[in-house]
Amino acid sequence: MVDKHLKICSLCQNPAVYLDREREIHLCSDHLITSVEEQVLIYLKKIDLPPVVGIAFSGGKDSTALLKAVCRILDQLSCRVVALTVDEGIERYRQETIRAAEETCSILGVPHYIIRFQDVFGHSLDQLVSGSDRNACTICGILRRRALEILARNHSIKVIATGHNQDDHAQTALMNAISGDVRKVFSGMGESPWYARRIKPFAEVSEREVTLYALLFGLFRDLPECPYASSSLRGEVRALLYRYERNHPGSMRHAARCEEEIRDRLGRIFERDPYQTCVSCGWPGSGRVCQVCTILTNEHPNRT
Ligand SMILES: [Zn+2]
Ligand SMILES: [Zn+2]
Repeated sequence: MVDKHLKICSLCQNPAVYLDREREIHLCSDHLITSVEEQVLIYLKKIDLPPVVGIAFSGGKDSTALLKAVCRILDQLSCRVVALTVDEGIERYRQETIRAAEETCSILGVPHYIIRFQDVFGHSLDQLVSGSDRNACTICGILRRRALEILARNHSIKVIATGHNQDDHAQTALMNAISGDVRKVFSGMGESPWYARRIKPFAEVSEREVTLYALLFGLFRDLPECPYASSSLRGEVRALLYRYERNHPGSMRHAARCEEEIRDRLGRIFERDPYQTCVSCGWPGSGRVCQVCTILTNEHPNRT
């Protein structure tokens, strides 16, 4: 006799592990894995990929799942991958996640390149924010972007894939709307030959799917939380969107697509402000002095 409470995969007769509320289908572990990898493959097939693609690899759940998924479909792509990790220099947090990242790369046989804040900026994140009331996450975000870019350049990598998923996009869409700052919608969208192109193969994959994918492959580790992580607006927006998604399946996807379409349509109408060359470091930026140099000089006014 069949247990009525035991959900069965809609595509085969195996027990289900995932319910896609929007499509109203259940998936077993094998079909969930296939579904995630198919979505990544469809995304990557649309892109003219260079011979080497860098995967921004923090060692956390999302980037580990992405690296695994791309490795498993690599024979259907005309490129190879390398993992790029930024060590921000965060005591009692980063050492452990970097060790996890190194271990994963050696298991998957993926070349792993690491760059340290200390080496490129002369200071760790801990040193830069100690005794300062500036927001560590903001500083970290700006410096990490530059460090990743330097690492990519050092290895002639023109395309960087990040582990952002559909939920991240939906949250960003709502946060941009709340902030009321139209420029934020366009941030990072300007194509510049100077910067590596950023791609997001999990753009259409939900956080739940990514998490399950990582769990099914035993990639989910109990790693420490970043001590600087603040549960500010994003946390509230995240909870709100989960509630919408539960009551109105598809909300997350619609919010993520809405942002994408706004960027796409408005991007064709408005021209992004041209990049200026930073007088201090020579990198392109939005002002006379770029954000990175502003941070480094503000935090260390006595630096020469
Ligand atoms: Zn199945
Ligand atoms: Zn600069």
